Amino acid sequence: MSSLDENRVKKALQRVEDPALEHDIVSYRIYKGCEVSGNKVLVHVTIPTPAYPKDARRELEKRITEALTQEGAKKVTVKAEVETAWIPPPSDKMNLQGPKNVIAVAAGKGGVGKSTVATNLALSLVRHGAKVGLLDADIFGPSIPTMLGPPDKPAGTTPDQKILPAQHHGLKVISVGFFVDKNEAVVWRGPMVHRLLQQFLQDVVWGDLDYLVCDLPPGTGDVQLSLSQLIPIAGAVMVTTPQEVSIIDVVKGISMFEKVEIPVLGIVENMSYYVCPACGHNDEIFSHGGGKRLAQETDVPFLGEIPIDSRIRFGGDSGVPIVASLPDSEHARCFMDIASRTALGIAERILSQPKRSPRLAVIR
Ligand code: ADP
Repeated sequence: MSSLDENRVKKALQRVEDPALEHDIVSYRIYKGCEVSGNKVLVHVTIPTPAYPKDARRELEKRITEALTQEGAKKVTVKAEVETAWIPPPSDKMNLQGPKNVIAVAAGKGGVGKSTVATNLALSLVRHGAKVGLLDADIFGPSIPTMLGPPDKPAGTTPDQKILPAQHHGLKVISVGFFVDKNEAVVWRGPMVHRLLQQFLQDVVWGDLDYLVCDLPPGTGDVQLSLSQLIPIAGAVMVTTPQEVSIIDVVKGISMFEKVEIPVLGIVENMSYYVCPACGHNDEIFSHGGGKRLAQETDVPFLGEIPIDSRIRFGGDSGVPIVASLPDSEHARCFMDIASRTALGIAERILSQPKRSPRLAVIR
């Protein structure tokens, strides 16, 4: 067998599939290069999201080691660095100066748990080690201040009048609810909504973020349109409950996102089933599986299901969402998995595109 060199290493690694992204690590730019010294190889890889699952990371190292051992390597070391995949905005969109990927969390109708999912998704990304912001853009019913508790106002302003977001469990947060009275109805027309969003995006000191999660109002309205015009959105997470009345409206939501060219990263089925804490009986209060079926029919990924559970409701009402209050619970793990799949979905969309020069890049 000829001696190992960079070419042979690269060729061998072209046959290695990334366990989380299910594509070869060379064309997906996970493999960054190597250093060969006799039969010892040091392989550099880039993990494209902090939410990359730990078991997949171990499996990736195993696959690389096996592939190179077959080529005659006696010692293989894999050096992994996490670098969140993103594409700088095209010139016709606002440059957010900080947030790399914007994730829109949307639902066809109110009350399905969209804000619960947005908050726990954002907190899960933080727990995965990402830098994350949460923008409550649910102008007509901002519930993030209730879900996260005090402080329910910005942390302050800078000398040049920029807004410093509130901090909750390592998450940077801004909500419309910070600026309007709780009991006051918000009656704003399209241009006002547009200006407010513009201000939240431009005048908030988000800093360097891997993900900015946006909790959108339910339905298909001005906020969705304005956001899609203002900034590139990495993708949308659609939240639904399993029953038909909720599913129908999600179909409309997906169709709207397609029209404004925002990729749908997947569907989350909330209030999926109920396990009685007394007897363990599993009850499908709102039916079950509608979200998964819809994902198959519309050909978008299914990101996961969350049961109906009083601890999730309590977390939302008491200001400490379940991912923060019970991080090791089964339900918190559901959110952690959904966050991983969402982040991997973004990485997959970016890495499946050929590398472009930043000036021409568009996340679509
Ligand atoms: P939306 O943003 O879609 O209007 P919310 O996230 O505000 O919905 O949720 C509505 C209510 O349902 C809240 O009281 C919330 O705590 C509760 N809730 C949401 N998801 C669950 C769940 N999986 N189990 C129990 N209660 C939930």
